[in-house]
Amino acid sequence: MDKFELDKIEDAVKTILQAVGEDPDREGLQDTPKRVAKMYAELFAGLNDDPAHFLDVGFTEQYDEMVVLRDIPFHSMCEHHLLPFMGKAHVAYIPNGKVVGISKLARVVETFAHRPQLQERLTSQIADLLMSKLQAKGVGVIIEASHTCMTIRGVKTPGATMVTSSMQGIFRSNIATRNEAMNLLMGNHR
Ligand SMILES: [Zn+2]
Repeated sequence: MDKFELDKIEDAVKTILQAVGEDPDREGLQDTPKRVAKMYAELFAGLNDDPAHFLDVGFTEQYDEMVVLRDIPFHSMCEHHLLPFMGKAHVAYIPNGKVVGISKLARVVETFAHRPQLQERLTSQIADLLMSKLQAKGVGVIIEASHTCMTIRGVKTPGATMVTSSMQGIFRSNIATRNEAMNLLMGNHR
């Protein structure tokens, strides 16, 4: 949190409240700029962290079958509206001599998610990092999320889920492997 200029965020929130015609000094709003500043520091904590380090400590294992971690819950902030989007990430990879603990995969998702994001970019950032840091034979990432910017504003499509995927390595080049990964990743959703 130390790298965030909390006072600047507080000033900005105060300005927004004034601009919409509110009185930032009335009792209920007095501490709001402070609270919002702290909240942004928490929601954007991933800006001050490089998720690559979670993958530094892997272990060597002669396991070359697919590893699948489904239903990693996450929440992020859409960078177009600064409204939350949330859902689940599913990650699969085929190791090439190096595997990592499942909590590390979850930390990678969390760190990338705690930044102003687009679901498409979040998906490919996770896949790219796993591919390069694990030197995996293949990586597949699927993210299912609902966007509050779609449910509470604009065309309003409550209940709609956006699904994005990034397939790399053998998951991109080999259709049978890709289909196996998709089936495992999507599980009972299909
Ligand atoms: Zn949005």
